[in-house]
Amino acid sequence: MRIANLDGRLVLLEPGADPDEPRGIDAAGAGWPDPDPQAVYARWDEFRAWAATVSFTDTARVDLAALGPVTPRPPQVFGIGLNYRDHAAESGFALPTDPVVFTKYPSSFTGPVGDIRLSPGNVDWEVELVAVIGAGGHGIAEADGWDHVAGLTLGQDLSDRVTQFAAPPAQFGMGKSYPGFSPVGPALVTADELRGDGLDPDDLELGCRVNGESVQKGRTSAMIFSVPALVAKLSAVVTLLPGDVVFTGTPSGIGASMTPPRFLAEGDELVSWCTGIGGLRQRFVSAR
Ligand code: ZN
Repeated sequence: MRIANLDGRLVLLEPGADPDEPRGIDAAGAGWPDPDPQAVYARWDEFRAWAATVSFTDTARVDLAALGPVTPRPPQVFGIGLNYRDHAAESGFALPTDPVVFTKYPSSFTGPVGDIRLSPGNVDWEVELVAVIGAGGHGIAEADGWDHVAGLTLGQDLSDRVTQFAAPPAQFGMGKSYPGFSPVGPALVTADELRGDGLDPDDLELGCRVNGESVQKGRTSAMIFSVPALVAKLSAVVTLLPGDVVFTGTPSGIGASMTPPRFLAEGDELVSWCTGIGGLRQRFVSAR
């Protein structure tokens, strides 16, 4: 199953449709009692059972530019740092023995396609697999981790490196939460949908390009802490809630680690992709 947020309304996407040219139906229009895309995660099992009964005879084209974030108001957002060996190495850090956790404030969330205003500092890209929690809980076992994930989407953990590292200790939450710095989408895809497409939800390929030049490319199987491991590690401390978001970390290739460092400039286009999920496209506009 694939869902999206079209103009603030929950949309069920047609199975098997091209992620770049999706078609779908308005969930409330088809009989689901609540049009709010964020509210669906609290009724995830009920929604899945209902969605299985929907016929896709009367779909409409979904305009990617009109999509909002699949989680417009997440109750809690977890960002994971240094979760790929190659990225930890390029950042000059030892491999973490426990997840490095920070937050991105929910006001920074935006849809998968659109313009983003540059912040005053050096703006960097971080393509990331994003997991959204369905059934929450505390003390979830890693073996049960996938059962608590509603689905997967794609995100950019955009980061102002000047704000992030203005003074020790680093301010990850501030540097990564300017308006628009958390684009996510285009759709939320369930793990079983990915398996049905012949994909392994623990081994998806993702990457991003700046003005057509590939800068990041990796596989989620290279993560130090997998999605179910992160569910277990996070829920060992924090009670996870329906609709919570986990940015699972970025592979190597960030601009700050290039020689010389490279950051996003006015007019740059950042295109991100993940097999089985789809893509993001951001254009950066002047800070003023
Ligand atoms: Zn990140």
